[in-house]
Amino acid sequence: MTERFEIVFLGTGSPLPSADRCGAGNVVVAGETNVLVDCGWGAARRLVPSGVRPGAIDVALFTHMHTDHMTDVPDFLFQRWTGGATTPLRVFGPEGTQEMIDGFLLALRRDIGFRQAHHGDKLHPDGIKVEVTEVPASKDPLPFLTLGGLSFESFEVDHFPVVPAFGYRARYDSRSVVLSGDTSFCESLAAASAGADMLVCEAMNAGLVTQLIAMLKSAGRDREAGLMSDVPSYHIATSEIAKLAARAGVGEVVLSHLIPPISNDAGQEAHFMAGMSDVYRGAIRVARDMQRVAVTGRNP
Ligand SMILES: [Zn+2]
Ligand SMILES: [Zn+2]
Repeated sequence: MTERFEIVFLGTGSPLPSADRCGAGNVVVAGETNVLVDCGWGAARRLVPSGVRPGAIDVALFTHMHTDHMTDVPDFLFQRWTGGATTPLRVFGPEGTQEMIDGFLLALRRDIGFRQAHHGDKLHPDGIKVEVTEVPASKDPLPFLTLGGLSFESFEVDHFPVVPAFGYRARYDSRSVVLSGDTSFCESLAAASAGADMLVCEAMNAGLVTQLIAMLKSAGRDREAGLMSDVPSYHIATSEIAKLAARAGVGEVVLSHLIPPISNDAGQEAHFMAGMSDVYRGAIRVARDMQRVAVTGRNP
């Protein structure tokens, strides 16, 4: 029987506010193991409605230290603790991860005391603790974690000036999925994606970004337009994703971390992906928040 290997999309947006798309966050589900990858704004609140019990997550990975990938960490820690966790959360990520966790725990220090005063030993003291391992940056996939049959490798991507920034490759039951993290087109992502059954890729629609910049300028919002014009330099355009996926021979592509965000509308999603299938012949889809997508492999 094929083991369950799925990606649960908690947040498919970016820092840009969106009614439909929260900040970045996924859960890799392999058999009974759940691994959280990033926890941006709103991602923690998506866990329960997505069918993932926060108390059943014991490992979290972070791709990089941008807000849209980490600002729901405090809420996740509390949901996990009050959800019955009795062991520390194990966290892996690039340099800066320890500082990020320490900062959030400092901000929570009083509330942790208040909850303990109120609930006593109904809350396990270890359930709010975090053990961080910072993984060294490597352009080549670097194995760093094995959980039963589920294994993870990290690889450094190009999200300059965010250094280091990671993508991750997960393998389970003879299948593999690559999570790009935030990146512009880079050879390390192409190499890590070679032969993967699924590529979950951040995605920017260059035409829509150009339209957004023009709209901001015409509204006199020049500072915002200027900031938006910096965005394309460190994200990957849909046309580049199609080329990369074709070259790497990936089984299918799922777009997430959409820039700019679009609503949950099939027409908008088709427009966002337009032109990709001319270059890449595999299946392409736009992920929605709280969607669960199975990594099926080439010969299911
Ligand atoms: Zn991001
Ligand atoms: Zn980023």
